[in-house]
Amino acid sequence: MADDLERLARAAPGGSTQRPIEVESPAQVDVIAGRTPCSRCRGSLRVDEHVARVVDEHPYRVAAVTCTMCGTTRELFFRLKASRLH
Ligand SMILES: [Zn+2]
Repeated sequence: MADDLERLARAAPGGSTQRPIEVESPAQVDVIAGRTPCSRCRGSLRVDEHVARVVDEHPYRVAAVTCTMCGTTRELFFRLKASRLH
């Protein structure tokens, strides 16, 4: 059962670098991560860390989160939308 939940969590938006959540600015990462429900208990997540990380030469924003209810930790992946230079 835990494996199924884990697989579902990874398939959800932000669950992996394959399915990053697109954001307009880094500030949105904390907002969206904070209102994403825990994949196990639907509890609320606390953002422990928010870092920039390059995976396979693509830049991502990664939020390390901990569920305030069950303590599950996971990482949520975000990608900044390409911004045009004016
Ligand atoms: Zn939880």
